[in-house]
Order: sequence, then structure tokens, then C-alpha cells
Amino acid sequence: MNIAVVGTGYVGLVTGTCLAESGANVICVDIDEEKVAKMKSGIVPIYEPHLDVLFERNIKAGRLHFTTDLKEAVEPAELIFLALPTPPGEDGSADLSYVLQVAKDLGGMIEDYKVVIDKSTVPVGTADKVHETLANELDKRFDRDDQNRPEFDVVSNPEFLREGFAVDDFMKPDRVVVGTSSDRARKLMDELYKPFVRQGNPVIFMDEKSAELTKYAANAFLATKITFMNEVANVCERVGANVDKVRIGIGSDERIGKRFLFPGIGYGGSCFPKDVQALAKSSKEADYDFRILDAVMDINQTQKTALVPRIKKYFGDSLKGKKLAMWGLAFKPDTDDIREAPSLYIIDELTKAGAEVIAYDPEAMDNVRGQIGDKIHYANDQYEALNDADALVICTEWQIFRSPDFTAIKNKLKEPVIFDGRNLYSLDSMEEKGFYYTSIGRQTVT
Ligand code: NAD
Repeated sequence: MNIAVVGTGYVGLVTGTCLAESGANVICVDIDEEKVAKMKSGIVPIYEPHLDVLFERNIKAGRLHFTTDLKEAVEPAELIFLALPTPPGEDGSADLSYVLQVAKDLGGMIEDYKVVIDKSTVPVGTADKVHETLANELDKRFDRDDQNRPEFDVVSNPEFLREGFAVDDFMKPDRVVVGTSSDRARKLMDELYKPFVRQGNPVIFMDEKSAELTKYAANAFLATKITFMNEVANVCERVGANVDKVRIGIGSDERIGKRFLFPGIGYGGSCFPKDVQALAKSSKEADYDFRILDAVMDINQTQKTALVPRIKKYFGDSLKGKKLAMWGLAFKPDTDDIREAPSLYIIDELTKAGAEVIAYDPEAMDNVRGQIGDKIHYANDQYEALNDADALVICTEWQIFRSPDFTAIKNKLKEPVIFDGRNLYSLDSMEEKGFYYTSIGRQTVT
């Protein structure tokens, strides 16, 4: 199969590489020249575990190519994936300008049958808009009854991969959702995904609108689940309960399930915040007030900085002269993605209150440096961040932070004080080791 992937971010590059791994010929196209130059010279431009091995293998095998030229990518392809950004617009709705611009460009260049597959997360009705945009451009080149006018189908194929597990999620998806009303496109999509669902997981076919909504509903549900647990944690703190126990207590009910019940300093990333916002907005446009989503957004915003009042309670409102070590900047472990990361909101409030922050993250420091520059200091490793710091603040649950050298932490910090936004350590062990330890939904160890 000949495939073009437009946009080589977290979704596009993983999609392109994994499809090449299944034997397809893939050309990835991006407008970012620097990124394309990097990929051409064999460098993976994002951090995503296991992607490098597949990337290298498929480039060597001649199945994975990169270009900045849309036409070069599209000409030989029958399937064209759009993995373009859909950031929140000013009013919170998804900005479709990237997707519709490419649809327009495609209308100006395609010469034969193409399936245009929307992998970006887009509001209900976008497949229709892409169809209309592309058809309008074709109208400028061909009459409707012109024999040479190329046919095309638009398919909605939302992506459910998780950053940090993206390769695994793509290679062995729980399910693939395909929205199409075309038999021709359906057959091609079925063939395309067969190698990925050999274990029996379903390729679920439906209409385009249902597929588009499935993605938003999934992300909004997961964001709500996290937020619900954060609310339970907030109650736990006030009534003297332990959220770890409550989590295990409810998670063993199969109807609830064990996953996604970990409380913390809120969800972030490029998807949940914008998708919850976009679903709330598009529901309003459809004359429906999806009230639970407003609460989810509101609660999550507060939760992101839930550690700050605790830090101020300990040190006083002014943090002038205080040096705080921060472990973790990425919005979650195993990624360098810092979009909507709680760490950035915490840094903002801590520095406003006069604190000096010295941070360490295994993968995300370059991105943070690019965004906020010298607003904070960057350490070479997790222990260097602790030198002469007044306390440690934990923002991301990277594996390397889970079993640290507590003696080193104690020796390096001025006082043994930890503010943990990810509940990495047990209360018993913190008490035994003599730390002041505040976490989420559990009693503070003093
Ligand atoms: P990203 O910002 O990482 O990547 C988008 C890429 O598109 C960038 O490299 C950018 O340079 C490129 N681009 C922009 N305009 C272009 C154009 N005209 N032609 C070619 N390339 C262009 O985005 P992402 O995280 O990969 O997300 C893409 C879409 O997938 C979004 O709609 C997102 O909501 C959705 N999604 C993301 C994830 C995730 O975990 N990141 C998961 C599922 C779905």
C-alpha cells in the first residue's frame, strides 16, 4: 500500500512508522523544514519509547520517507492520513484551519482516487467539511461530470494512542474506529488495519459523525474519571481518609475498573484539556449544556496548582529566598511533551511568590527551556537539583523517582521536606525516614 501521512508530530510520525513496519510504503510530509531535515538524517524529532528502532529499520528498508513537499507525498499514495494539529481556538472550539488548508491543497493537486483519512481529533461534522473543501477545489479544476475528475472519500479514523506507549498502542490497539459511508474506503481501511488486529481486537466501522464523537467522548470520560478521583482525594484529606485505600476499594469493582483512578495534580497534555473544552463548546453549539464538562475543567485547573497552598502553608506566603527542587516537568512520564503540564502552572505561581526553582526531568527540559527559558534553573540529574534546596516538589511520576536514594535526598535538602503531587511514596516509609511529606488525598506526615 502507498500511504502519505501529513503532519509528523506524535500521532503522524508514529502512524507513518508503524504503517511502514507493517510493510506499507510511507511518505511523511511536514511543513517544519528543520524537523524534516532531522528525520531525513535519521533523527527521531520527538521522544517516544521504542519509536527509534522501528524508525531506523523502516528507513533502512526503504519504506519510510520524509519530505516537505505535499505533492511529492500525495502523488503515489492511495491513502492520505491527516495528522495535523487541532489546537483550541480563542473560544475553546477546535481550530480546523490546519486540516481544512490541507484539504484545500489536496483538492488542488490530486489526480486519481484517494482516501483522505482524518486522524486528528476533530469535532463532529469535520469529515463533511473536509469533503466539501476538497470538492470545491476540484470544482475549479474539473466539471462535476468530467471523466478525469478524480474520486475521493473522506474517512474519520480517530487515534487513541497514548504518548509514552504510542508504538505499542498503534501496533496492538484495543480497537480501531473507522467512520465511513463508502464501501470502497471501508475495504481499504479493513485491509490496512488487518495486521494490527490479528489478536482479535475489533475494527469498529460506523458513520463519520459517530467516529468523530467517539474520540471526544473517550477523552472526556477519561478526564472525568481522573477528576472524579481528584475530588475523592480532596474529600479524603478533609475527613482523614486515605485515597490509596479508597482507590483500591472501588477499583476492584469490575464496573469501575482499576485503571485511571490515581489522584494527582490534574491532567495535562495536548489532548485531554483541549478535547474536553472542544466537546463542551461543540455541545453548546448544538444547543446542549454538557454541564459535567464545565465542572471537570474548573476542578482540573484548581488541581494543577494544589501543591502551591501547601508549600505556602509550610513556608509562609512569601517564598522569597526559598529554593525549591522540582522533579518532573513533562505532563506525564515517558514523554517530552509539556503542553498544559501542571509543572508549568506550579512554576509560575512559585516564582511569582519569589521562589527559585531548580528542576530536573529526564526528557522534557529542552522543551521547557524553549518555552520559559531562564525563569528556572535546570539540573543535570535528579540529585543535583536538590543541592541546598529547601524542599522537593514532585510533579511527574517518572519511574526513576519512585525508589530514590532517600539518604541522599535528606543530606542534600536543607530540611527533609517533600511535596508530592503524584503520591510516589508510602506514608509509613516517609514517617520512618523522618520526612515532612505532603501528597494528594492522604494525611500529611509531619
Ligand atoms: P503535533 O503538534 O505533535 O504535530 C503536528 C505536526 O503537523 C507538526 O509537526 C506540524 O509541523 C505539522 N503541520 C502543521 N501544519 C502542517 C501542514 N500544513 N502540512 C504538513 N504538516 C503540518 O500534534 P499531535 O500531538 O501529533 O496531534 C495531531 C492530532 O492528533 C491532533 O488533532 C491531536 O488532538 C490528535 N491526537 C493526539 C494524540 C497525542 O497523544 N498527541 C493522541 C490522539 C490524537
